[in-house]
Amino acid sequence: MNDTDAQSLTVIVPAHNEEQCLVELVTRLATTLSPLDLVWDVLVVDDGSTDATWQVTRELRKKGYPVGGIRLSRNFGKEIAMSAGIDHVDGACVIIDADLQDPPELITEMVRIWREEAVDVVYAQRRVRVGESTMKRTTAHLFYRVINRLSRTPIPRDTGDFRLMSPRAVRALQRIGERNRFMKGLFAWIGYRQRALLYDRDARQGGTTKFNYWKLWNFAVDGITSFSAAPLRLATLIGLLASVLAMLYAAFVVVKTLIFGDPVQGYPSLMVVILFLGGMQLLALGVIGEYLGRLFDETKGRPLYLVEDTIDKGGRSGGR
Ligand code: UDP
Ligand code: MG
Repeated sequence: MNDTDAQSLTVIVPAHNEEQCLVELVTRLATTLSPLDLVWDVLVVDDGSTDATWQVTRELRKKGYPVGGIRLSRNFGKEIAMSAGIDHVDGACVIIDADLQDPPELITEMVRIWREEAVDVVYAQRRVRVGESTMKRTTAHLFYRVINRLSRTPIPRDTGDFRLMSPRAVRALQRIGERNRFMKGLFAWIGYRQRALLYDRDARQGGTTKFNYWKLWNFAVDGITSFSAAPLRLATLIGLLASVLAMLYAAFVVVKTLIFGDPVQGYPSLMVVILFLGGMQLLALGVIGEYLGRLFDETKGRPLYLVEDTIDKGGRSGGR
């Protein structure tokens, strides 16, 4: 039996400089959630915004919306902002982007599936990726291919963080203590019963995207290294292969010298071999470094985030 009978729902909104979107988001959430038979509230996680995001949240609360907030002490990034939100939830939750790219209206359908099919996670999966460059689409495709080859927990493709999670799934995520958080992977890692809900992702409503290719590259490296040790194994494999080839080549050189004598020759081949091996060694060192760096981060044991201020959502005011 899973705990779908818990009838409260918190909508977590990670927000970094989203003053332009919050009001519309909360009004649309209120229109969507009020008719549903549950107690709901919104939890804005202000991820070190430098604009009026925090003031807007406060005003929404004053206007009587069931909106609470946590303000992180600086910008920690979306993955950590989401984790902070999850830590402050008891009961079921929905994670949604502040920029209205995830249509709030879809939550109705998520709640229906959650209740009727008794699943633990309902994740929104993009039917098509519109309004994105070919470059972004190709790199995303490549990323999913690589990570799903390497990782033991399959990670659903074209899935963002927009999802509903049952209290049990929320509790599972709260127990995950690692610092390098690749949430897409962790969402999949917890298991339980998960179900996809296809949707069309809208374009951003206001403000600008906070992601660029450098961030996405780091994101991809984080994802792969926290879900697979395959790159380390690959380094070993390449090393092994190189030594086998080197031995064959050595045998060839010995035989050649025995038959044809030994005029001084072979500078180009020497260079090729040295450069190739040098490159491989640096690459392998880099791979080890990636893992070592993450290990370093984990052992420092710093808190994941620091909270600067909170807004109490006040009573159980939403819905019902
Ligand atoms: N976000 C955040 N911290 C960050 C960057 C982004 O909390 O450091 C939030 C942002 O406010 C938004 C969501 O994460 O609600 C998705 O960000 P964005 O729309 O910029 O990403 P994209 O949709 O372009 O991938
Ligand atoms: Mg967006």
